[in-house]
Amino acid sequence: MPRARIYRGTAHNLRLLARKLQQGVLVAVPSETVYGLAGNALDAQACRKIFAAKGRPSTDPLIVHIHSLAQLAEVAVTNPAALRLARQFWPGPLTLVLPKRAVVPDAVTAGLASVAVRMPSDPLLRRLLKLCGLPLAAPSANPFGYVSPTTAEHVRHGLGSKIGFILDGGPARIGLESTIVDLRQPGRPRLLRPGAITRGQLGRALGRRVVVGLRPSDRNKGAQIAPGLLKRHYSPHARVVLHRKLSTRRAATSGPSEAWLFLKRPVLPVRSNVFWLDAAGTTPVAAQRLFAMLRQLDQAGYTIIHVELARGAGLAEALNDRLRRAAAK
Ligand code: AMP
Ligand code: MG
Repeated sequence: MPRARIYRGTAHNLRLLARKLQQGVLVAVPSETVYGLAGNALDAQACRKIFAAKGRPSTDPLIVHIHSLAQLAEVAVTNPAALRLARQFWPGPLTLVLPKRAVVPDAVTAGLASVAVRMPSDPLLRRLLKLCGLPLAAPSANPFGYVSPTTAEHVRHGLGSKIGFILDGGPARIGLESTIVDLRQPGRPRLLRPGAITRGQLGRALGRRVVVGLRPSDRNKGAQIAPGLLKRHYSPHARVVLHRKLSTRRAATSGPSEAWLFLKRPVLPVRSNVFWLDAAGTTPVAAQRLFAMLRQLDQAGYTIIHVELARGAGLAEALNDRLRRAAAK
């Protein structure tokens, strides 16, 4: 049984981990979104190990991470809309769904004719991608269904007995999974998962409206075509209860096993079961801290987490999307 070791991003360690990936070994990697569990995307056996380590159903396809636009053309059939978004938002937290090329094994795409591709911006992951010279399939590095990891320690906590290698790049800068956009029909872009690149940004870049959700013909496909479209996902063990607005008055009268999670530091009185994502209530900071906070409250033994929904468009939509999934039955 492997016991995960955490590796700092030294030149020596990066070379070692690149070699491991070339040998078909799994490596957990930092990214600007969340930590990923990476394997050679062209090696079906390596990819099957990813599903086994996570306990992820083989019907839930993986995102392929690349270093260059040349690699995009190797794994996917591109179109002008895709190249436009790639030029504007890569490297960054945007995943494109495109028709796949034959080199991508069915294990990666769950048998779909499409592949999801992203060029991440995290500097250590970029160096690792370049050193190993391979596209890397990587879902979030957590047991299936649980909250995504945003630090190397989170990865070790969830998968430490299943994998041997974790690259530490510090806390994830964005803290929410990538935006996913389906560009198989370039004239009709579809948002499959909201993230830090917003629907408005995509619409402006493409010069057309981006619709939300799957195309009707995909809705009853066997494979889990849109990821986060699984209703319950990203969930802590505690029950999550959503609120439009929280008040410290209600927190003051609740039982000791209930936590109250505000977006912004509330006015006093603040009791020990009152928490906040950012003192100033800034949405990017709240998003960056959300998953770590849900883990912390789980570990503290709270059985109910009351959370306040974010207001506004853009990143607030992505944050609320994760909160709704965490709260789904
Ligand atoms: P995760 O990396 O755990 O955040 O999940 C990756 C998600 O990307 C999957 O759950 C998929 O729904 C989505 N995805 C991967 N490949 C495809 C694809 N070919 N078509 C649509 N969505 C995809
Ligand atoms: Mg995931």
